[in-house]
Amino acid sequence: MRKLSAVVPAIIGGERVLTGAAFDVIDPSSGTVVGQVALCGPPEVDRAVAAARTAFRTTWRHVSAAGRARHLRAIAAIFQQHADELAELETLDTGKPLSQSRIDVGFAIRYFEYYANMVEAVFGDVIPVGTDRLTLAIREPHGVTGHIVPWNYPLGLSTRTIAPSIAAGNCCVLKPAEDASLTPSRISELALEAGLPAGVLNCVTGPGGVTGQALVEHHDVDYISFTGSVPVGHRIAAAAAHTLTPVALELGGKSPNIVFADADLDEAAPVLARSIIQNAGQTCSAGSRLLVADEVHDELQGRLVEIFRATRIGPGEEDPDLGPVISAKQLGSVTDMIERGKQEATLLTGGGRAAEPRLAGGYFVEPTLFGDVAPEASIFQQEIFGPVLTLTRFRDIDEAIELANGTEYGLVSGVWTGSISTAHRMIQELDSGQVMVNTFSNGVELPFSGRRKSGYGVEKGYDGLLAFTKVKGAVIAWSRS
Ligand code: NAP
Ligand code: MG
Repeated sequence: MRKLSAVVPAIIGGERVLTGAAFDVIDPSSGTVVGQVALCGPPEVDRAVAAARTAFRTTWRHVSAAGRARHLRAIAAIFQQHADELAELETLDTGKPLSQSRIDVGFAIRYFEYYANMVEAVFGDVIPVGTDRLTLAIREPHGVTGHIVPWNYPLGLSTRTIAPSIAAGNCCVLKPAEDASLTPSRISELALEAGLPAGVLNCVTGPGGVTGQALVEHHDVDYISFTGSVPVGHRIAAAAAHTLTPVALELGGKSPNIVFADADLDEAAPVLARSIIQNAGQTCSAGSRLLVADEVHDELQGRLVEIFRATRIGPGEEDPDLGPVISAKQLGSVTDMIERGKQEATLLTGGGRAAEPRLAGGYFVEPTLFGDVAPEASIFQQEIFGPVLTLTRFRDIDEAIELANGTEYGLVSGVWTGSISTAHRMIQELDSGQVMVNTFSNGVELPFSGRRKSGYGVEKGYDGLLAFTKVKGAVIAWSRS
């Protein structure tokens, strides 16, 4: 197994920074230490915010949109040159199957290309007030943006907000999760190699409660983008309220896939399984609740049991269907929820840690399917963030809507039907930020936002770029003298 030869640095003001202290990198496939990352505290956060502020004032806000776009394209190109390295690092750090890491590298590249293409088309407005004045709405960057991301998609989620932020003219301080800091540090380093001016992208590595907290409480940060859990989201929103910093919260989900009797089960079944098995279920938008019409319930249940039992489990570098969950802590929380599920519903397959002796050191969970899951059950209501799917039947479209909207979350919904009317009605009625019909994939183009406990703010698409701007009204009156 691969080990890292040197301590992974923080990236501050264009420099690779080691702090004299470090924390361990754990390979979730084996539970062993494979490297170390520089431990940053409040002094490094101060330095990073100051570097970002200086870069913003002296350099970046003066670079034209076309100039910024050229930098973004150069970054996309260097990611492409290092695609294999980035995918291997991502798999080492998170345990995710190698082909899934390769897809995430593709997303990282695409975010930079997409926002490079788009940024030159962000115009303000000229507002028609009268002939004696010109009234303008000007789009400006926020200034210094703080980005706090979780461990489930370190590459994908870092680039999802950094690319539009830099494109819009901001300078960033990125704080990755302690459990997955390798690729965020590496892409920040590669961006420098691609010619991005020092201080435009900084990366401070360290624990959320210290390093992350220092960033969100910092008085010289102009905007905070947070992706993570609901409890930490509450704390971030409270800290941001104190400094009156605008914040976007992309939080958890308990997303339903709703299968009607007229759905194409041949197409749906593998996608439904993948939507919870991919990344070991550790996806904010995982399809973790399956709601199925009575008429096709038993047929679909049988197919899913078959797919789950045939799932290949193994270390990420072997590129199985299902890798480990991220940490011993996550393993404990997923298996605890499975035990609760056994009290609440019918276990159809899976039900605990993977049994193969060679996997014993890693954090592997079997793909687990529960049937007859009532809407009151904790496994129906709570985000498990593991490869655990609940199955609930419905009689008609009204019951399907009630069940689908029946949790505190509102991130994503999948609808499977052959009827255009059913599709229309479901898009109207589902209280979630995204609705996907006869698919469960969404690219960089689809605006992505949460409802209720899934958070607020928007990422991806054109709206995701505008989020990293603020509007300034200006008026120039005609001089009569
Ligand atoms: P988390 O515990 O909330 O951590 C997220 C990030 O916040 C990490 O970088 C963490 O650092 C940091 N953090 C923790 N405490 C902090 C504090 N007091 N101040 C500032 N930063 C702090 O979430 P997680 O368990 O890593 O990630 C899983 C959650 O993220 C799930 O609920 C999932 O649904 C959600 N998620 C949402 C989306 C979306 O787009 N809606 C996407 C992906 C994931 P450390 O880890 O180093 O402590
Ligand atoms: Mg790790």
